[in-house]
Amino acid sequence: EFTDISLKDIDQLANSSFPLCMRHLFNKLRDDHHLKHGGRMQLGLFLKGVGLKLEDALAFWRAEFSQKAKVDYASGKIGSERFDKEYAYAVRHNYGKEGKRTDYTPYSCQKIISVNPSVGDHHGCPYRHFSEENLRAALAKMGVAGHAMDDVMDKVKNRHYQVACTMTFEAVHAASCDTGINHPNQYFAQSRKLLE
Ligand code: SF4
Repeated sequence: EFTDISLKDIDQLANSSFPLCMRHLFNKLRDDHHLKHGGRMQLGLFLKGVGLKLEDALAFWRAEFSQKAKVDYASGKIGSERFDKEYAYAVRHNYGKEGKRTDYTPYSCQKIISVNPSVGDHHGCPYRHFSEENLRAALAKMGVAGHAMDDVMDKVKNRHYQVACTMTFEAVHAASCDTGINHPNQYFAQSRKLLE
């Protein structure tokens, strides 16, 4: 069970309690004002899982995508109205308000690790899908250093991605995580428990 989160806290929460996979998508969205389908699904369902309400999710995605739409509109690529309608539909769809009204659940680590992102995609698990150089840089940004960095990279080399993520959690929270990480929303929930 997650308590609702508010849109005004989302940047601070992303910085303190999102696992690397979601932090990366979140930052890319903030920088590019755009994410491809795989990224929108992975991040969108995660945000739903952490308690972002539908109205807030619509406001969040609209604010980002409308900045991109302005550029596309100016270049004649797409009309902003159509843009808004299509993405609003997708967000409502994720919340089970459109189409078959399935209540989609956020993706587990296993599912995220098993995808094959293409060039230009930002979804997937950074421990598996980033180059060593990019992963080191991303971990350093989270505050992982020294022995902790070596230990995490060692697990990655042995393809123990979730263990690497668990060790990252432990390093940035200075606390143990005996259950291990198996779901991005579990990472978030355990982080909030420690930081609240
Ligand atoms: Fe995300 Fe799971 Fe990968 Fe951690 S192990 S970055 S929570 S997919």
